[in-house]
Amino acid sequence: MSQKILVVDDEPDILNLTEKFLKLGGFEILTSSNAKEAMRIVEENYDDIDLILLDIMMPGRSGYSVLEEVKNNVKFKHILVVLFTVKSFNEDVQKGKKLGADAYITKPFSGKELLNRIKEILGNNH
Ligand SMILES: [Mg+2]
Repeated sequence: MSQKILVVDDEPDILNLTEKFLKLGGFEILTSSNAKEAMRIVEENYDDIDLILLDIMMPGRSGYSVLEEVKNNVKFKHILVVLFTVKSFNEDVQKGKKLGADAYITKPFSGKELLNRIKEILGNNH
């Protein structure tokens, strides 16, 4: 069975590109453009989701609130959470670390970089 990734980002271009690249890499993808919907998807699919690729800056609830909710719930905390961060924002990394983020991917990124990084984080070399 292929691994499942939930991608959460409010920018449609990033969501579409990320979905395309990760599908090419053989992953199953779920997408959401906001924190509220993302948590509903997690609630319904937590047994199935291996990793959440999570934007921080989104209208309404931020990515941090999703990270916090996932890592503070025994049902969800096995899911790896990878934050999308902007290179210059060291603050994001510090705050994310405190809240339990497993890894970071800095924007902008190439498809190849993204795929390699995700595979590395998931610990497989297929
Ligand atoms: Mg955003």
